[in-house]
Amino acid sequence: MTELLPCPFCGSEAIETSHPSCDCCGKAWNGEVCCTKCEASVSHLDTSAEAIAAWNRRSPLHEMRGPSDQ
Ligand SMILES: [Zn+2]
Ligand SMILES: [Zn+2]
Repeated sequence: MTELLPCPFCGSEAIETSHPSCDCCGKAWNGEVCCTKCEASVSHLDTSAEAIAAWNRRSPLHEMRGPSDQ
C-alpha cells in the first residue's frame, strides 16, 4: 500500500477519500485525497493511485527527501 505523506500545510494525517462519481461534475471516478484537519485536498484524478501520487508530489516534506530515501 502506498503511504500518504502528511499534509504539506498543517502536517496532519491525510486519508484517501476516492469515490465513484463526483458530486460536483459527475466524473465516473473521483480519485481524491484529503487532509483530516484542514481543507487541503487533491481531487479529480482518474485513479486512487494517481490521487495518492498527486498528493505526495505536492508535499513540501516529500520534496526535502533524497531520491534514495524511499
Ligand atoms: Zn467534480
Ligand atoms: Zn492539513
